[in-house]
Amino acid sequence: MLKRLVFALVLLSSMALFAWTVRRFARMVLAGKPEPRFDRIGERIGSIITFFFGQRKVIEKAVIPSNRMQWFVTAIGSKYHFLIFWGFMIITVGTTELVIQGLFPAFNLSLVLGETLALWTWTAIDWANLVVLALIGFSVFRRVVLQPRLIPMSRDAAAILGAIALLMITHFAMHGFSGVAHGTPKPGFPLSAMVAETFAGVSPAVAHVVSEFNWWLHLVIVLLFGNYLLYSKHSHILASFPNIFFRRLDQLGVLPKLNMEAEEIEQIGIVNEFKDFTWKSLLDGFACTECARCSNVCPAFVTGKPLSPMQVIHDVRDEMKARLTGRGPLDTIMELFQHGAEGEENMTRKVDMVGGRTSEDVLWSCTTCGACQEVCPVFIDQPEKILQMRQNLVLLQEKVPPDLARTFKNLEQNGNPWGLAADKRMDWAEGHDVPTLQDKPNAEYLLWVGCAGAYDDRIKKQTVALVDILKEGGVDFAVIGLEEGCTGDTARRSGNEMLYQIQAQKNIETMNGKSVKKVITACPHCFHTIKNEYPQLGGNFEVTHHTQMIRQLVDSGKVAVNKDADGIKKVTYHDPCYLGRWNGEYDAPRDTLDKLGSSRLELERSKEQGFCCGAGGGRMWMEENIGTRVNHNRVDEILASGADTVATACPFCTIMVQDGVNDRGAQEKVQVLNVSELVAKSMVRKRQIQGDQKV
Ligand code: SF4
Ligand code: SF4
Repeated sequence: MLKRLVFALVLLSSMALFAWTVRRFARMVLAGKPEPRFDRIGERIGSIITFFFGQRKVIEKAVIPSNRMQWFVTAIGSKYHFLIFWGFMIITVGTTELVIQGLFPAFNLSLVLGETLALWTWTAIDWANLVVLALIGFSVFRRVVLQPRLIPMSRDAAAILGAIALLMITHFAMHGFSGVAHGTPKPGFPLSAMVAETFAGVSPAVAHVVSEFNWWLHLVIVLLFGNYLLYSKHSHILASFPNIFFRRLDQLGVLPKLNMEAEEIEQIGIVNEFKDFTWKSLLDGFACTECARCSNVCPAFVTGKPLSPMQVIHDVRDEMKARLTGRGPLDTIMELFQHGAEGEENMTRKVDMVGGRTSEDVLWSCTTCGACQEVCPVFIDQPEKILQMRQNLVLLQEKVPPDLARTFKNLEQNGNPWGLAADKRMDWAEGHDVPTLQDKPNAEYLLWVGCAGAYDDRIKKQTVALVDILKEGGVDFAVIGLEEGCTGDTARRSGNEMLYQIQAQKNIETMNGKSVKKVITACPHCFHTIKNEYPQLGGNFEVTHHTQMIRQLVDSGKVAVNKDADGIKKVTYHDPCYLGRWNGEYDAPRDTLDKLGSSRLELERSKEQGFCCGAGGGRMWMEENIGTRVNHNRVDEILASGADTVATACPFCTIMVQDGVNDRGAQEKVQVLNVSELVAKSMVRKRQIQGDQKV
């Protein structure tokens, strides 16, 4: 009776403390701005089944290993979390039984499940304890011996791993010695029975005391663990479920629109302190599992820049905790325990979040490639936070790197980042008989050329190739001509929302004024911006990327290709982030390349795991002074693939990859061509076919 009473008191106090802690943390998260995430409930439940219970991202989206050791860690690590998760789910059934037994000793699972199912469940629980114990051993080995970057054996990790190991050990001791005390092993616990056999010589009285002690220790650890969770990296155990449920289901990579017409600066929506993020962005901080997958695939991090997307998420979380109203001794004790005196000071220091806790160099390093978001098992949105903080640097603090400031000026004055004269925008078309909307006001498609396609000498050739294919395929198209301006992608991704909206609105007015309905873009950045972001400003168009249009033309036979015409033996394809990861188009360029004569190789990092060229997020216009160059990293991989040609589908990628090839002195080994150029080379023109038929 006394045991029940004491246990009831311990349980109630622990639950009260837990409820108090949850309330404090929930208030912190709910201090964020409102954001509707209660739509599409069916899909959200589906996400929980697939990504929480099924752990799909954990299994599938492992980091691409760069050496044998990392391969070993990845191969085991990607299954490790799945097993530990399900091990814990099974163990939780046993823990629930123990807690109920603490209050009602006569209870056991067979009363609920029946004898047979209860026996199976106990056996599963016994084995799950062994599997989790072994995996904890692997985790310690990984952190202490293999020492993967960003996954250290911190005090927090040691406390959690130690507590879990102790839980497993006390499970076996509790059930094993209970068997000794009763003179017969507990049915359904085969592994605990082995413990009982091992200690069969111990007197029943001593065995009873040992079993009782381990029962108490086991349950006290469970209750302490539950209360410690929210203060530790294991807050994800509680926060990942809602984070996956409330994940973004609409188009990825679309920035929330700032209200540039607001009269008060606070109403614009620029993020200045943690409360300016939405509640979902704040929840992200507690959902982070600290797996470091995001940082390990980040082109900035991989090439030695100061940006670690995982750290950015932690900065936001630490900022929340540092500014927690009603901070008490418990917070200080937890921080001292986890981080030591220095860490505690860091947690509580009051610095500006943007440019302080998260430095300017960190924020400017991002290429907005989305690789971090793609691999995150709990659907954290890292790029959006980085870009929102960039908006603060540009619009509030007016801290813009000099090269980017020049680009902004070029965009303002000439409508293109090169700063070339606006009236030269159509020079590329000279001698190519390119129709404009003035000539063909009812053209079915507007061909959106883009600044690179209009001004960069190398990319102009790609535009001409595309025009050639469209004409051959009989596509009814026209260009806007001199009225086309930069879509605003560079300005928006560089934090200059004001400039973006001015440029975008001007384009939308022009396009709406000419009754444009369908658009073909030569550039994935234009594609993403017009398709997914212009609707925020009243521009609603049906947008097709040029590789999608080319696939249609080749598949339908409107454009015929000669398989042997391009003279290429091995081609590989570099995925542009804004076509692939942000818009899910991986197949159109590949399908077309497969119709040409060459054999196609897949790069090691391709499709969802493709590696950025280094130009996105305005980085095209900025010096890369820290670490090694992102395009060198990518080009080394391309050269290692053995391909003689790398196909691209983006002007920025073409420029960056070509620069990398030149820097490596590999111009003889590999050529860089757009899919459009490869198709134009292989195209069998109708005139030619007719001529052949006459002969
Ligand atoms: S978007 Fe790309 S560059 Fe930016 S943090 Fe994520 S992985 Fe790194
Ligand atoms: S943000 Fe996501 S991928 Fe990055 S460490 Fe956290 S959970 Fe892992």
